Amino acid sequence: MSRKAIVIGAGFGGLAAAIRLQSMGLSVTLLEGRARPGGRAYVYEQDGFTFDAGPTVITDPSSLEELFELSGRRLSDYVELLPITPFYRLLWEDGTAFDYVNDQAELDRQIAALSPPDVAGYRRFLDYSTQVFEEGYLKLGHVAFLDPWSMVKAAPQLARLQAWRSVYSMVSSFVQEEHLRQALSFHTLLVGGNPFQSSSIYALIHALERKWGVWFPRGGTGALVAGLARLFQDLGGTLRLATPAAEILTQGDRAVGVRTEDGEVLMADLVVSNADVMHTYGKLLKRHPRGRRMEKGLGRRRFSMSLFVVYFGLKRRHDDLRHHTILFGPEYKGLVDSICGAKPLREDFSIYLHAPSVTDDSLAPHGCSAYYALSPVPNLTQPIDWQTEGPKYAERLLEAIERRAIPGLREDLVTMRIFTPEDFQSELNAHLGSAFSLEPILTQSAWFRVHNRDAEVRNLYFVGAGTHPGAGVPGVVGSAKATARVIAEDLAREPA
Ligand SMILES: Cc1cc2nc3c(=O)[nH]c(=O)nc-3n(C[C@H](O)[C@H](O)[C@H](O)COP(=O)(O)OP(=O)(O)OC[C@H]3O[C@@H](n4cnc5c(N)ncnc54)[C@H](O)[C@@H]3O)c2cc1C
Repeated sequence: MSRKAIVIGAGFGGLAAAIRLQSMGLSVTLLEGRARPGGRAYVYEQDGFTFDAGPTVITDPSSLEELFELSGRRLSDYVELLPITPFYRLLWEDGTAFDYVNDQAELDRQIAALSPPDVAGYRRFLDYSTQVFEEGYLKLGHVAFLDPWSMVKAAPQLARLQAWRSVYSMVSSFVQEEHLRQALSFHTLLVGGNPFQSSSIYALIHALERKWGVWFPRGGTGALVAGLARLFQDLGGTLRLATPAAEILTQGDRAVGVRTEDGEVLMADLVVSNADVMHTYGKLLKRHPRGRRMEKGLGRRRFSMSLFVVYFGLKRRHDDLRHHTILFGPEYKGLVDSICGAKPLREDFSIYLHAPSVTDDSLAPHGCSAYYALSPVPNLTQPIDWQTEGPKYAERLLEAIERRAIPGLREDLVTMRIFTPEDFQSELNAHLGSAFSLEPILTQSAWFRVHNRDAEVRNLYFVGAGTHPGAGVPGVVGSAKATARVIAEDLAREPA
């Protein structure tokens, strides 16, 4: 009889882990609390519009392809990935625009227009980013850090790459012009990090995007999630939606199953949690002393910022927009410091504008277009009453987008909805409403992050943003690879 595994949570990390374990021959039940899989990559359908809730910049398609190849299948049989160019259009208040493309000559031309000496500086930065990518992503991104030795072994490379420096400081050592410094350092915000504090290891995102490009699934990120869920079920896995886990059951220091909120008890040989790490230890494992101890320890850690998202549909198309636009606010450092330092809400903001209808017209009714705009905001350590502030904040965002990117927006508005830090907490069990779990700083990375396997309850494993390597779709899909490898080694040691 095959061994049974329960995976709690069907985010990208949980889906990838469930697929890997099922492909290894385990009998896997994937429990998801919400009505649909996806987690942060949920989908809202409203008034004929399809809104991807979260991830829209799909990078490293090879990590997704691998999940299909494990069972001799092909990703393209489940979902079509469309290349996106430019990767992002970057716009500043002073009128500066930069199309971040993968074409070196075009990049050189744009960099030279801003600052000729930075053309050479950018090349040196790209070399650096490529080295970090090879060490930090290709070599260490899919390997669990389970003991201090794993960290000691990685230390020489980290030292050589000056991992103690921040991304912004590292970028600034290569390029002088401020817009370019922002263009090359904002990526850490996409995984919940402050560019002025996150380790320069996160500069690897730049090389990762240059190597594999930026993609968008036809039908939206939701189509990719649906493809992964279908793959898991085609492999024989059991996906149970609207089935929140209430407790991880233990006997001594072993996990033996899960009790659902409905009181059903499911037994298993091992449990993998894709739920928030604080929720897992503090709620699901609260009857085990390990759960209470870890909850206390994690309570002292730094959780990442949150996000405010407004999804909206317009009765007109805007095909002159780019798929991904970043609208930088007037003061980059002050803004990110205040968001990550959980200071009060500011009057200025940076906005990421998602305009998927320029790539895929299936996401809105004929002649209409779908969007979302997100703005990084403090997590719930800052007492903001989002019930009151949310609608006002949405209005300010829409006003700024109307002024800077979509004229006539509010007149053409036919539908909208918002998602606040309080929703991250209540809908996703995210501690402090954090959008990306533990903040990606050096002292919370690799071995210092929640381990892919618990140190005491040794058949309890983690996947997702809170464990190594961290947030972002490639990160959490990589965490599933690291965790599945540990599980395979553990199972090989134990007779069935
Ligand atoms: C708005 C937004 C935009 C983003 N954009 C990008 C992007 O463009 N590109 C990119 O790479 N990354 C992006 N990210 C980051 C990326 O989406 C996340 O890091 C990643 O999707 C998190 O995946 P995860 O596996 O950690 O699980 P999550 O998505 O957090 O899913 C965890 C799942 O566990 C479930 N769960 C929780 N508790 C229980 C329980 N008790 N029982 C059962 N189920 C439970 C939740 O319902 C949820 O479905 C974005 C994030 C956000 C929020």
